[in-house]
Amino acid sequence: WSKADGRARWTLYDPARGAHQLTTQRLATALRPALERGEFAVEYQPLVGLADGLVHGAEALVRWRHPRYGTLSPDRFIPLAEESGAIVPLGKWVLEESCRQARQWLAEFPDLEMFISVNLAARQIWDSDVVADVADVLDRTGLPARLLQLEITESALLGPGGRPLQALQALADMGIRIAIDDFGTGYSNLSYLSRLPVHVLKLDGSFIESFRDPAGPTTTGPVTTGPATIASSPAAPVVASGAGRRTDADEQIVGAMVRLAHALGLSVTAEGIENEAQAERLRLTGCDTAQGWYFARPGDADRVSAMLREGRSRTDGTADGRPVTG
Ligand code: C2E
Ligand code: MG
Ligand code: MG
Ligand code: MG
Repeated sequence: WSKADGRARWTLYDPARGAHQLTTQRLATALRPALERGEFAVEYQPLVGLADGLVHGAEALVRWRHPRYGTLSPDRFIPLAEESGAIVPLGKWVLEESCRQARQWLAEFPDLEMFISVNLAARQIWDSDVVADVADVLDRTGLPARLLQLEITESALLGPGGRPLQALQALADMGIRIAIDDFGTGYSNLSYLSRLPVHVLKLDGSFIESFRDPAGPTTTGPVTTGPATIASSPAAPVVASGAGRRTDADEQIVGAMVRLAHALGLSVTAEGIENEAQAERLRLTGCDTAQGWYFARPGDADRVSAMLREGRSRTDGTADGRPVTG
């Protein structure tokens, strides 16, 4: 029997599946020793202000540099780490590594007030003293709490009892910003969220997928930079024919979510921006910040430092090049 989804269930034997499960099992038991051997690394992806085109912060995304399987993406091992509980030490390691890096950016670029955004797993909130761990990390790294943002999914907050709520409140009271990750994929109840100590909504990438140039190619890919035919005036009508229709609906939905979030005092970030047309259309909705391959792929901290130094909002340096300082 397998323990997929955390529930034991009977499955027919399937050699291919069997091999996959063997690997999964191996990865799960290898997590803690791998952490001790230093096989994990954090990559950073810039969060760009849509009004000023500048890098305001970065999301920390963990990778496993596996000696045998190469670099593993978090989708491969975070669920295993959640299930085994290894997420607690791993999550704390990511937090400390990321806060140390953010403290370094603060020393190097004191005027920029670059923030770091770190993902928190459900298990960190439910099964560990996350408040004490975060306080400890801030203390040891010297990062001011205002430069730390923690990303939590709606589903991680659901469950019996008030534990997550108390933890969120304590973290918010410390001056940490709380973001709801992948917003729009779960319950997406804004009135419920407005009663929680939440500061930022991160719209899931699926909303942005259909934000494409209706006159351009209908395929999206990394950095497809067709001409942005949507006029820069917010009053420009959105093309609502054929392939444009779904675009129109999603833009209306995102626009409404942004307005409602702003009315509730929340700021809005969007993920998964892959091309210029998406970035421009998103900007017209009033969304505050954005993240995606169009601006920069997740990468090492030095790349983000170079962008900060050169006042760039894109890795290739072709976007808005307004100087960051002076
Ligand atoms: P997430 O928090 O929603 O992170 C955004 C994901 O979108 C990242 O995937 C990022 O690489 C990817 N992404 C960024 N820009 C684009 C784009 O333009 N197009 C597309 N298609 N994707 C883009 P990644 O790094 O594979 O991480 C996957 C998920 O793993 C994260 O989703 C997060 O839920 C989880 N994760 C990553 N690091 C950690 C961590 O340290 N702790 C915990 N608990 N979870 C983590
Ligand atoms: Mg995230
Ligand atoms: Mg996300
Ligand atoms: Mg996501």
